[in-house]
Amino acid sequence: MRAVDVIQRKRDGQELTREEIDFFIGGHARGEIPDYQASALAMAVYLKGMTDPETVALTEAMMRTGEVLDLKDLPGPKVDKHSTGGVGDKTSLILAPLAAACGVYVPMISGRGLGHTGGTLDKLESIPGFRVNLSLAEFRAVLRKCKLGLIGQTPEIAPADRKLYALRDVTATVESRPLIAASIMSKKMAEGIDALILDVKTGDGAFMKSFPDAKALAEAMIAIGKGMGKKVAALITDMEQPLGKTVGNALEVVECIETLKGRGPKDLESLSLELAAWMLHLGGLGSLDAARIKIRDALHSGAGLQKFEEIIEAQGGDPRVCGDLSLLPKASEEVPLRAPRDGRVSRIACRAVGQAAMLLGAGRETVDSHVDPAVGLVLHKKVGDLVIEGEPMLTLHVNDKTRLAEAEALLKAAITIAPEVRARGPLIQAVLG
Ligand code: URA
Repeated sequence: MRAVDVIQRKRDGQELTREEIDFFIGGHARGEIPDYQASALAMAVYLKGMTDPETVALTEAMMRTGEVLDLKDLPGPKVDKHSTGGVGDKTSLILAPLAAACGVYVPMISGRGLGHTGGTLDKLESIPGFRVNLSLAEFRAVLRKCKLGLIGQTPEIAPADRKLYALRDVTATVESRPLIAASIMSKKMAEGIDALILDVKTGDGAFMKSFPDAKALAEAMIAIGKGMGKKVAALITDMEQPLGKTVGNALEVVECIETLKGRGPKDLESLSLELAAWMLHLGGLGSLDAARIKIRDALHSGAGLQKFEEIIEAQGGDPRVCGDLSLLPKASEEVPLRAPRDGRVSRIACRAVGQAAMLLGAGRETVDSHVDPAVGLVLHKKVGDLVIEGEPMLTLHVNDKTRLAEAEALLKAAITIAPEVRARGPLIQAVLG
């Protein structure tokens, strides 16, 4: 078999066999097939798509390039959540401790932010001392002790994805449904979980801009997961404006702690609680309604916050941040962005807000960029809110002013003020599974 023939068949729109996919993905992961051929195949898949059986074969091939964790020795359901990525999307830090406090094991392997989207690992690393690069042995030990572990992608898990994702990122082939589905599910299915709830984002700040595209991605991932014997469901959720009020790593941690104390913004609280309830339900701990009550109780009793403190300590961080937010990194300057006129906020272009936070240093332009944990922005107004001329609509938290003017210009253009606002769709647009 030759790599060039596999590329040619996909280029011509033919369905690849499982053997061809195994040969190609395994060969690339082992370094036998060069990056330029893998990039060519990614572009062919981007342009011609893949059938469901091809997408399943791709996922399995990628998963088999690394270790598949066996967590059967842990006495209880193992459940995770995965989001397809967004702006201000910080639910993991809230739902993971809540779900673990209610009795499921949460072995969460997360990613870093790239481009306009944030990443769970960067948020966690803004907590002084917090280590996300645990060895698999340490991860198991933490998971056994706390029912929760929060780590980054390890070289042992789906190494094929690590290589292919880096190529896709620089060859304009990220936004491909089969490639996203296989990338996400190859990692999640290697985690040793029994069940997975997917948060598939749709709208300006998401990879899948339209509802039909998001639905098709969700369906593809559910089919892959169920085909591999796991319980999987998906919520399709709005990413037309940032979730909650903060964008930027330490700022988002503050908002998560506030939410775990019952003082978070309603959109963030309701989505985090609903996803956590699904984790319990899929993990077999009762009906969805019963799970909702348990999760709400864990929020109000403080059990979720206590679990968050426990995991911070177990992973080397300073748990006192939960009681004393001033222990988190803070930017040297706060710059308000004021409303140019009276009216109502009718749109907050979500992608641009993420890009502005990145320009301040909160995110990465390339995988090697340095992230400043303290910087970002706090929205004081969301879509539908009234504003008065001169009132701060948001505050930028700044350390390095090099790209401040660029960020401000992006944000000014991102926020539309109009006399009237059309009714917004719901935050949770559909439930599949
Ligand atoms: N997240 C992933 O892990 N992979 C993708 O391809 C897109 C989002």
